[in-house]
Amino acid sequence: MTRSPDLPPDAEARRAVAPVLCYRNDSLAPPRLSDLARARVGASRIEKILVPPRDGRCFHVPAGHFFRISCTEGPQVGDLNLWNADNLAERFYSGKTRALHGTHLGLGDRLWSSFPQLRPLATITEDTLGWYGTDQHGCRVHDVIGTRCDPYTNTLLTGSQYHHCCHSNLTRALADETGLPLHDAEMLVHDVLNVFMCTGFSPDTGQYIMKASPVRPGDYLEFFAELDLIGGLSACPGGDCASDHSSDGANCSPLLVEVFAPPTPPRGWVAPTENGYDRSHGT
Ligand SMILES: [Zn+2]
Repeated sequence: MTRSPDLPPDAEARRAVAPVLCYRNDSLAPPRLSDLARARVGASRIEKILVPPRDGRCFHVPAGHFFRISCTEGPQVGDLNLWNADNLAERFYSGKTRALHGTHLGLGDRLWSSFPQLRPLATITEDTLGWYGTDQHGCRVHDVIGTRCDPYTNTLLTGSQYHHCCHSNLTRALADETGLPLHDAEMLVHDVLNVFMCTGFSPDTGQYIMKASPVRPGDYLEFFAELDLIGGLSACPGGDCASDHSSDGANCSPLLVEVFAPPTPPRGWVAPTENGYDRSHGT
């Protein structure tokens, strides 16, 4: 190995320092999954939305209800946005969710909202891909590392115009849902949970990598809505994200969203309150 001329004599000792978690999350109240599962029994489906390939749709989920995202005809990745239905400025914060739970989400993890509220918008209650774990490439499913495919990065890298990236699909869907002008809706679109996407980091360069999603028809990811939510879901133009996105090159399939109303609210559940920080910021 070629040694850099700037390598300090104690380089290996500095590298050998043991890491610690940035955020210990064991002070968070654990999700009451058994109570949620009990409430889910007998829940009736109140809404069904089919998200067409290379397009997006919005849906409403009342607080205390469940919603499920299902793979239908073939392997397909979905890009999920969540907003507080009463205040669209409060939206899913993928970066802080990543800091609290890790690069990929699974059963019992929560989807946290933006500042200043920073509270759970939803809790993952079922994941049929929970068996996947970490593969030989270091990849896992359902990431909160990959932002969303967007036309700006595509234009930056290729010079071409492509209008059915997840960012644009979510923008059109939110504009349709709310009546907001397109560019106002666009400013509310945010980094996503990459549902069913299988991703990691290149071990040599640390770059974001993806591979064909292991999802198959019938697989699903289910959530419990902690607040009244508007969800936005894009069926990514990358399809199973085996090779390309930001083009019409991949095979794509619809995704199904279903909303379920439980017969009674989960035992002990109360909607989360806003974060307790006083917001004086040292003044
Ligand atoms: Zn996408």
